[in-house]
Amino acid sequence: MAFDPALLDLGYLLAACLFVFGLKGLGHPRTAPRGNALGALGMGVAVLTTLAVLAVDGTGVIGPELLVGGIALGSLIGWIMAVRVEMTQMPEMVALFNGFGGAASALVALSEVVGRVTTNTIPDGFELWVAWIAIGASALVGWSTLTGSVLAMFKLAGGVSIFGRWISTPTWGPPWLNAVKALLTVAVVGLIGMSATSPGDLSLVWWIVGLSCVLGVLLVIPIGGADMPVVVSLLNSMSGLAAAFTGFILNNSVLIVAGSLVGASGLILTFIMCKAMNRTLFDVIFKSFGGGGKERVTRTKVGSDPDEVAMILDGAQKVIVVPGYGMAVSQSQHAVREFADILAEKYGTEVLYAIHPVAGRMPGHMNVLLAEASVPYEKQIEMDEINAEFADCDVALIIGANDTVNPAARTGEGPLAGMPIIDADQAPTVVIVKRSLSVGYAGVDNDLFFMDKTMMLFGDGKAMMTGLNAALKES
Ligand code: NDP
Repeated sequence: MAFDPALLDLGYLLAACLFVFGLKGLGHPRTAPRGNALGALGMGVAVLTTLAVLAVDGTGVIGPELLVGGIALGSLIGWIMAVRVEMTQMPEMVALFNGFGGAASALVALSEVVGRVTTNTIPDGFELWVAWIAIGASALVGWSTLTGSVLAMFKLAGGVSIFGRWISTPTWGPPWLNAVKALLTVAVVGLIGMSATSPGDLSLVWWIVGLSCVLGVLLVIPIGGADMPVVVSLLNSMSGLAAAFTGFILNNSVLIVAGSLVGASGLILTFIMCKAMNRTLFDVIFKSFGGGGKERVTRTKVGSDPDEVAMILDGAQKVIVVPGYGMAVSQSQHAVREFADILAEKYGTEVLYAIHPVAGRMPGHMNVLLAEASVPYEKQIEMDEINAEFADCDVALIIGANDTVNPAARTGEGPLAGMPIIDADQAPTVVIVKRSLSVGYAGVDNDLFFMDKTMMLFGDGKAMMTGLNAALKES
């Protein structure tokens, strides 16, 4: 029995619609869970449609055993990874999954290439040279996404442990590196062109794969400090592009749609991150802003204690909480929420949350944590909007944020140069919860810690917030 192609198209169309509605839902934290579920449903419909074609028609890219086996194995690995990953390792996992997406597309393209070279087949409805360009493009984007994402994962983790020895990930960008990247890109594009005109030479494909892997590493290695969010979003976008190219090779409409959606939304996110950093994409990729080399902090500052801070908060009318990566590490979001509840109950204090777009280690990191602690979305205010409010608040409480409140960003030098920051230093009193005076992700010393109006609460975020809550209740 043959499968009606119209039914296949209908299944894929439904899946594509679900992806679009899913993405729309992901645009706001409140609708994001529904958007996520719609996207997953769309993927389910796409997989079931493909399985239905296989069951009825017996045709497809791979047999049903491999397909079902692959889904089972992939689900098991994904489930184990999701269960075992610590909340603080989520950004690394997201980076790795970007790489896996690129690698999956690149591997499918590679198997097609080998299959076509050995059987000398031309896909239906395709000019041979178009197919070969799509194959080359998928390989270029897919393999560079894999190696770039793996390096980005290690950069987010700060390094890698090899045989118990911790090796930190380097940030390396000599001036001549751009020329090397340009040369390699031209070489790969040339190889793709050559493979399109002489599609039978497998050695060209191996060269494309090898050079693309090197390009991925060279793309990410010079990017350091605060610019990492831009490159992580870009890699996400590239993994989508690789899938779209592979969709062209397989003549699979739903893969083209899904890949293009990931590519486009990843690119939008990349530009949002660029705006947050006040950089152009060109600058991030071709002008290394450095970072990674940590400054040595030599100054000292006497720490305060929770009782002292509770006294300062006595009768406060407006407090702005500035969360950062340290809140994620210490998992103190629930204690932060309780802090707001106590203040509201005791003094009727209005507590707002200032969200920097690149705070934490992945886009939306702070929103996710605060939502988990049931902090209302309308209290989570974006940087551009909240900055004007610091001058008339009573206290800015910074929990585990550093780069995103570092006034050094206002100067024209260093890895943070030009990055807009949360203007917490404009508040009359600043309380900072962190374990030491050490630098943030970009490795830049922070003058805010040493201002007269700043009180440092040295310690783990959760322990300190719990102590502060207890002191507030007793005061
Ligand atoms: P930072 O990474 O600049 O600083 C976090 C601070 O948290 C550290 O200085 C650390 O100080 C403190 N901290 C760590 N553990 C704890 C703990 N258990 N309790 C209390 N404090 C703790 O944070 P920001 O959020 O301000 O900035 C994010 C940075 O990461 C930016 O540079 C951004 O560009 C970059 N980045 C962002 C990504 C994204 O997608 N959002 C991705 C990749 C990088 P101490 O050790 O003294 O406690």
